[in-house]
Amino acid sequence: MSKEPTSSAAGASAVASTNFIRNIIEADLAAGKHAARRWSGAPGPGAQQLAGALDPARIRTRFPPEPNGYLHFGHAKSICLNFGLAQDYGGRCHLRFDDTNPEKEEQEYVDSIVDSVRWLGYSWEGSIGQGQAGSESNLYFASNYFDWMIEFAEYLISSGHAYVDSQSADEMRASRGTLTEAGADSPFRERGVEENMDLFKRMQKGEFADGAHILRARIDMASANINLRDPAIYRIRHASHHNTGDRWCVYPMYTYAHPIEDALENITHSICTLEFADQRPFYDWLLERLAEGGLLQRPLPQQIEFSRLNLSYIVLSKRKLIQLVEEEHVAGWDDPRLPTLVGARRRGYPAAGFRLFAERGGVSKSDSLIEYSLLEDSMREVLNESAERRVAVLDPLRLIIDNYPAGASEDCFAPNHPLKPETGKRAMPFGRELWIEREDFMAQPSKGYHRLYPGNMARLRYAYVVRCTGFDCDEDGAVSAVHCEYLPDSKSGTAGADSYKVKGNLHWISLADACPAEVRLYDRLFAVPSPGARREGDPEGTERDFRDDLNPDSMRVIQAWLEPALKNARPEESFQFERHGYFVADRVDSQAGAPVFNRTVTLRDSWSVKGGSRK
Ligand code: ATP
Ligand code: MG
Repeated sequence: MSKEPTSSAAGASAVASTNFIRNIIEADLAAGKHAARRWSGAPGPGAQQLAGALDPARIRTRFPPEPNGYLHFGHAKSICLNFGLAQDYGGRCHLRFDDTNPEKEEQEYVDSIVDSVRWLGYSWEGSIGQGQAGSESNLYFASNYFDWMIEFAEYLISSGHAYVDSQSADEMRASRGTLTEAGADSPFRERGVEENMDLFKRMQKGEFADGAHILRARIDMASANINLRDPAIYRIRHASHHNTGDRWCVYPMYTYAHPIEDALENITHSICTLEFADQRPFYDWLLERLAEGGLLQRPLPQQIEFSRLNLSYIVLSKRKLIQLVEEEHVAGWDDPRLPTLVGARRRGYPAAGFRLFAERGGVSKSDSLIEYSLLEDSMREVLNESAERRVAVLDPLRLIIDNYPAGASEDCFAPNHPLKPETGKRAMPFGRELWIEREDFMAQPSKGYHRLYPGNMARLRYAYVVRCTGFDCDEDGAVSAVHCEYLPDSKSGTAGADSYKVKGNLHWISLADACPAEVRLYDRLFAVPSPGARREGDPEGTERDFRDDLNPDSMRVIQAWLEPALKNARPEESFQFERHGYFVADRVDSQAGAPVFNRTVTLRDSWSVKGGSRK
């Protein structure tokens, strides 16, 4: 246990610091690049030309999740960045479901993503621009653009920029070339426009099996950038889609769909993670061709890449998270140990903590592994400011005050929040028998131990100074109770309080009034900073299984005693349990009058001091 951090949450309202994305936006705004855009209405080709307010001081960003999993901490970074920029520059951020892949996409994920973005404090609804009455919703589904995507693909065919390839997947792979060798042209590359159009129409009608043909952009099989070697843009997939049902049996490739989605929605700055940098030439190529053909208006959206968030001690890959849930290493998607936003919420991580963390971390172009403790620091900082203080005894030991009258009781008063006197004080009943923490007593004190041991004095916070007079043991020799005497003129807040100089300062709960509760002590899910990474001594070239690095002590369930004021804690209410850390009333398992508490984070980092692993 450690003392409360003394710093106030100064950073909770951190001023946005500048970064390379802001520089791009500010230069675009100064140049009036997007001045001719139309700022409302449904997406569509040429939408910019319809009537509407023109306002150069606006940007549009988007957060485009694929609804195939729950959002994780990496997504939170992207959400805070995209919605945050739109907020700061008076623009809009779209929530767009990138649901062009018929497989693996489910309504359950859509609902949860909507909830999580809202929970983080952002909105895609509201009015935009001056002179535009009413409000608009900027919630979009990419699958609503399939008609345009088909129309655009047909334009590419008719203008000679796309062709139907009938090679097998293996043949296509073989002719693609390598990083050092050019690819080879497909034998179908010179098919005429009419034949291509006929085949593509028949692909749409369902005349062919999956994989029989594929529509490819005709760019350059010798390009140094493999992504420009005639990338696939439409494939046959006889599959039902969660939104469009069985209407389509051809579906666009992600790299084709995404730039079109951005353009149709008038996105100005399309911010994505670094792995898409090699795709940018195709992004630009495609939108240029469509603009040339008059299907899209300029200025076109600009793709900007930043490095994705990687955090130590967790994994942020959907595939691995799904594995942890399906193999029941955790209790579900909202397990408080999982780095999902639903998990974070249950753990008690405040949304403002994510916003602060995103702001502090900034954006960059180089990949790095961020210390998990930095995320925890942001959470602590927000909670230190927002959470009221309470008392809980997690590892109870009975303290008997032999000179305090049996049956008597009195109120002591504890401040609800030391940084906010306006929150007042609450009464804590005091009596002859109290619960204290087992570690606050030592029969044989070690050097520098200032709490209770026979003969020593310590203060019971907000109450009296006591002198330890002895202790009882059970049959096994374990300490079962501690005896003491109190000094009646030492009560906190009275004139006599200052005449006793004691070093130990203990929290306590009156036995008669204590409320029993289940408390879950959550800790990091993985025991090492890079789960699955090779460790020193592992044979060269071997990989570890990230699941072998799970922390076996990531959750401990205990029965604790709470002060009576905690009995009616509402689900999701956060408190600092003095000297222990921040805890939240579990939003699922708490019942009226019987809260269950989850430990959100300890008061201080106990990992870094131990050089990585705590074991
Ligand atoms: P994963 O790689 O875990 O499967 P994803 O990137 O495929 O995630 P999407 O649903 O496509 O998941 O992501 C939506 C948005 O979130 C994308 O713009 C993506 O760049 C961004 N994003 C995903 N992971 C991170 C991360 N670790 N850091 C920053 N942004 C991220
Ligand atoms: Mg993705």
